Amino acid sequence: MIQKKSFRSGFITIIGRPNVGKSTLVNRLVDKKVAIVSDKPQTTRHKIMAVVNQKDSQMIFIDTPGLHRPKDALGERLNQVVKSTLAESDAVLFMLDAYAGIGAGDEFIARELAGTKSPVVVALNKIDEIDTERLTKEINLVKGIGKFDHTIPISALKGDGTDELLGFLDRFLVEGPQYFPDGMISDQPEKILIGEFIREKILWMTKEEIPYSVAVSVEEIKARKKKDLIDVRAWIYVERDSQKGILIGSGGEMIKAIGKESRIEIESILGSKIFLDLRVKVRKKWRRDARIIDQLGY
Ligand code: GDP
Ligand code: MG
Repeated sequence: MIQKKSFRSGFITIIGRPNVGKSTLVNRLVDKKVAIVSDKPQTTRHKIMAVVNQKDSQMIFIDTPGLHRPKDALGERLNQVVKSTLAESDAVLFMLDAYAGIGAGDEFIARELAGTKSPVVVALNKIDEIDTERLTKEINLVKGIGKFDHTIPISALKGDGTDELLGFLDRFLVEGPQYFPDGMISDQPEKILIGEFIREKILWMTKEEIPYSVAVSVEEIKARKKKDLIDVRAWIYVERDSQKGILIGSGGEMIKAIGKESRIEIESILGSKIFLDLRVKVRKKWRRDARIIDQLGY
């Protein structure tokens, strides 16, 4: 009798300082065998970026807000969230930029990673920009900043080493369910996912009072005919005029910044350029508005 191989799955957290190429890697994986799926709107602690489906396995990549040297209480809190995400992962993918070289920011993350029980695999990115001599030097530097399970040189941009990376990460999957169905997500979760991304940007950029009063409702995601462009229309609901003022900012600075950051991320998720129509609306007690609540998928 042939024994059916059981299904394996796992969560892999990607961490690395800004600009090392995390989004590029996710895009690269998306090109291949990936479906983007939404996390449940309630579990905003994790942000699921990409799911790699293979025959008998599923690899779920989670992006983190990033570990920073905390400047204040909020910063500390965010680091705390990242750490618990790391601890719950089946593996951690620590991305480094071989071209820029390894620096203090990387060392800080490496020190934090030393405390995690999850296996840590290093992806040494941007090797397309350097020669072998330099690569050897950077690999040695990686050894100097921490103890990692493996270091894999890659070019997220060109796709070099990314199959090897997936192959290596495969060993950390454990027997478990297929968390997300095959294929692309339906319209509904996609809207929720994008709404959460926008809400997250608001969270990073505003202070105390705002995050709790904000809801983001993605009204429409629509591809423009014969153009490589997707229109995304989203409303940001707040409860008071004063909050609207804060979100728009003087001369519209704040809403522009929120829009810019959101757009970059939504484009990486949708794999297309987008036009983001983002508007702030005041709805007193939106928490009691059934239509808004429905739209939010709660
Ligand atoms: P993130 O901040 O870690 O998500 O980094 P991004 O994915 O946004 O990449 C930052 C910059 O590095 C972008 O300009 C990318 O095009 C570039 N980049 C990412 N991966 C590679 C790579 O493998 N080689 C080269 N040459 N550039 C890369
Ligand atoms: Mg990024």
